[in-house]
Amino acid sequence: MKNKIRATEAALDMAIDWYPQAEKHETPKLYPGNQGRRAVVIHIAEGSYEAAVRWLQDAQLNPNSSAHFVIAKDARVAQLVSVNDGAWANGLRWNVDASQPNGGYWTNGRGVRVNPSWPDIVPGQNPNFYTISIEHEGYYQETWTPEMYAANNELLVWIAEQFDIWWVPYRSLIGHYAIDNVDRPNCPGPTVNFVKMAADANTTRILKMVVPQTGTKHVYGTTALLSLPTNTIISYLRDVDTEVYGYLDYRGKRWYITPYSFNNKQPYFFEAASTVPTPALFPSLSLNPGYRDSVTPSAGELRDLAPQWVRVLLFAQYQNFNTGQNTELDWLLDRVKQAKPNMQVLALVNPETLGEIPPPTGSANWSAYITKASNLAQKVAQFYRGKISALEVWNEPDVQQILPENYAALLSAAYPKIKAVNPDLPVISAGICCGEGFEYLRRVVAAAPNAFDFAGWHIYAERADGFPSANWGFGEIRNSINQARAIAGKPLWITEIGAQLDYDWGNLPPPQAVADYMNRAFAIMNDVGRNQVAQAFWFTWRIAGESWGMVDDVGTKRPAWFMFQELAKNAPQPPTGIAEITNVMLTPTTLDTGQVLNVSITVRNGTNATIPTQAPSPGLVYNEGETFLSRGYAEVNGAYRVGIDFDGRTGIDHPYRWGLGSALAPNETRTITGQIRLNKAAVKNYWAGLVQEQIAWKQDNVGKTLITVKQPTTPPPTGNPTILAVSFAPQTVQAGQLLNVSITVRNDTNVALATQGPNPGFTYLEGESFRSHGFTEQRDAFRVGVDFEGRTGIDHPYRWGFGSALNPGETRVINGAIRLNKVGTKKYWAGLVREQVAWLQDNQGATNITVSSGTPPPPTGKPIITVVQFSPTSLEQGQIVQVKVTVKNDSSQTLTTQGPDAGFLYNEGDNFLTKGFAPISGAWRIGVDYDGRSSVDPNIYPYRWSLGGSLAPGQSAVIVGFVRLNRRQSVDYWAGLIQEANNVIVDRAGVTRINVVKA
Ligand SMILES: [Zn+2]
Repeated sequence: MKNKIRATEAALDMAIDWYPQAEKHETPKLYPGNQGRRAVVIHIAEGSYEAAVRWLQDAQLNPNSSAHFVIAKDARVAQLVSVNDGAWANGLRWNVDASQPNGGYWTNGRGVRVNPSWPDIVPGQNPNFYTISIEHEGYYQETWTPEMYAANNELLVWIAEQFDIWWVPYRSLIGHYAIDNVDRPNCPGPTVNFVKMAADANTTRILKMVVPQTGTKHVYGTTALLSLPTNTIISYLRDVDTEVYGYLDYRGKRWYITPYSFNNKQPYFFEAASTVPTPALFPSLSLNPGYRDSVTPSAGELRDLAPQWVRVLLFAQYQNFNTGQNTELDWLLDRVKQAKPNMQVLALVNPETLGEIPPPTGSANWSAYITKASNLAQKVAQFYRGKISALEVWNEPDVQQILPENYAALLSAAYPKIKAVNPDLPVISAGICCGEGFEYLRRVVAAAPNAFDFAGWHIYAERADGFPSANWGFGEIRNSINQARAIAGKPLWITEIGAQLDYDWGNLPPPQAVADYMNRAFAIMNDVGRNQVAQAFWFTWRIAGESWGMVDDVGTKRPAWFMFQELAKNAPQPPTGIAEITNVMLTPTTLDTGQVLNVSITVRNGTNATIPTQAPSPGLVYNEGETFLSRGYAEVNGAYRVGIDFDGRTGIDHPYRWGLGSALAPNETRTITGQIRLNKAAVKNYWAGLVQEQIAWKQDNVGKTLITVKQPTTPPPTGNPTILAVSFAPQTVQAGQLLNVSITVRNDTNVALATQGPNPGFTYLEGESFRSHGFTEQRDAFRVGVDFEGRTGIDHPYRWGFGSALNPGETRVINGAIRLNKVGTKKYWAGLVREQVAWLQDNQGATNITVSSGTPPPPTGKPIITVVQFSPTSLEQGQIVQVKVTVKNDSSQTLTTQGPDAGFLYNEGDNFLTKGFAPISGAWRIGVDYDGRSSVDPNIYPYRWSLGGSLAPGQSAVIVGFVRLNRRQSVDYWAGLIQEANNVIVDRAGVTRINVVKA
């Protein structure tokens, strides 16, 4: 509860009061503050925009009502009340009446009783406190203009971003009628489609969150293409190479979107986890509940069957509720160990374990039952830490007739208790019966989305790709898995799948048919990939007197027994051994604030399988306080990373994580390095861990090292360094030419003077600074700097280090250059700085420098464009065309460049000037121009992009840019190469006809 309040406050802190696109028409008619934002209420004004704004704003004219927003048919937006305050638009009055279901009833402004259909209204609290209202120009029978709809859409996106709301029609996005069904049944009227409005706003918002990063991804097995944020299944991708436009980090996962979905504004994404290769599925065995040898193979038989896992139900009569010990589980663990040392056990806790059946739905005893059940799960997890390998919380709650929300509450209570005592133990949600229970699963996931690591799922009487016959059973295994996986949002554990002789197998001999079914079912589960089905348990070894099982009542092996054995034998062996950290080095152990802690972690893959990894690559430098999430490297299911954690950490576990660079082969050892810039003085322990993301911490607390970070205490030197001479030459330069700077420094102190970059000889372009080149100040480093008359912005923007430490008594000449572009005369001078401590000297060698107009001499040879590609060449209005240009520097000079960066998106009609990228004389850019442009935009090559960085002689660069085309047109576009300002060196390269049709 405390966290919830804090989260709400944080959201409110972040909300900007006023919509930047709105005309402000502030009204005093408001309630200060709010009680959360449960919905936006859509209204129709029944009049003009001007009349509505006046009526709702003016407290004299109308003392009774207001609204947050009014939108006009021509897309103007007025805002009258801050979104953090309550407007007077959706008000109802609560009348206390103990005879009513909620202890009262609602009346509207006229005092007439109303029955709000909005399910999220809070009995007793005026909806004005927790809703935002939007009025719209016009009358309720009218269809909204496209302009008003678009303006409303943009406003909904902005509100959603302020409060992090995803629009749900009739819940968080409602009409006034849903509050006052008596006097406002036609507000906003029958033409308003809330489903479409919510979907459009959610789509606009989510597509804005996509980070462009084109590439090709391979999907391993099967994965769902989901429409976010609703998680609606659109279709499935299966074993394909897929082009991606970019990615989205959303709800703790990375998702990819294809160029097609992005360009067509379809919010269809698939999980990045499906692009990680997974090992083959290895069959496991689900034991029938019962006593010892009656349901469990002997150690020898277990060895012969060789399941990877065994699943077992715990019974109350063997259960110690104080310690968590279960003597039957001890017996089983012992047998499993005798059979095969690396065989793993999934323990199942259920009412049989508790010795108490769940109370009926609606019972007041539920919360006590949940407490008992979750405490028991915790005890078992604690006692069997390191002995069992997974824990399943409850079994087939649907068959037990437990309401999904009641089961979800039990799971939500158990999960944190289990993790508190055994953080690495995977928690499996209850297997839901029996292949088609999608709605039950959906409700569990909705109510407890973060309370399981894998979703339990059972499959019975589902066809194995049409086997044994087309109309047999309830559905297809493949469909069952794919749907359940998409709903769960996490890989499934099929904790039971089985078949019995008594099924109708048609003409097939039942024992052989069951074996065949097992073979086909495992083939399908293997085929869909471990990202869909992470484990699968065949039910069962034996049930006395029934036609289930691999052996009959007298222990004779059925064909299913041999099939299981063969499947286990043929499956690639599951990883043996472990991946582990073999060495950790954290250096230095004492450092000054602002310095970096070097992290070096050696990982050895002692298993027989290649282990996958993910971003970020080794070498990434974190700043203290950042996390892998804040840097955009969300967990990819199953990938291995190393991470660093520290004493007193709040927030995300092991916030500094690095990938392994690339997959680690069996027996391979690799050292992963990274850095953390520590900015706060403190003494604490740091240590390393190895994680398989979203599955388990394989190791933790490795290499614990006490790190001391202190404020720098460099003893002040005696004496001072001195500038002996300064020269600026020439004193008259042509625009585009270099001003050479020479500063002579002598170290008159008794210590060597530390320094930093850039080194002597570095050339600045006018307008740049040491910071824009990444040479930010390092405390105590000595540098010389040049400042000039009329400078705004950073002090002494042109700075140079000494190249290396300057020894006591040593004199050194520091040279540098500045390429001047702006015509005029001004004074330049030099100074000497001890960074972040003091300027030791300034105003040395002040000299007037005159810059005359003139163009830089042309390079010998010319840069050229070798490839131009526009795609697509046919698109709809509002879609984006990509241009890809290859530039080769065939000149003898290095080409400097300037922004915007490659990848920058222009909207049609924008140009480099309107986007704030005025030419820097001498810099090179690529540009795009088109036929008929002069009647639209007087600027040649209005769309320009950087070369990505300075281009040395002989080098090539590929530059990608984007333009959103909004006009219908059929026009030739081409690329060019420009030396700023506006000197077109290559013109009309790659002329391509682009057709833009009506959206
Ligand atoms: Zn209304």
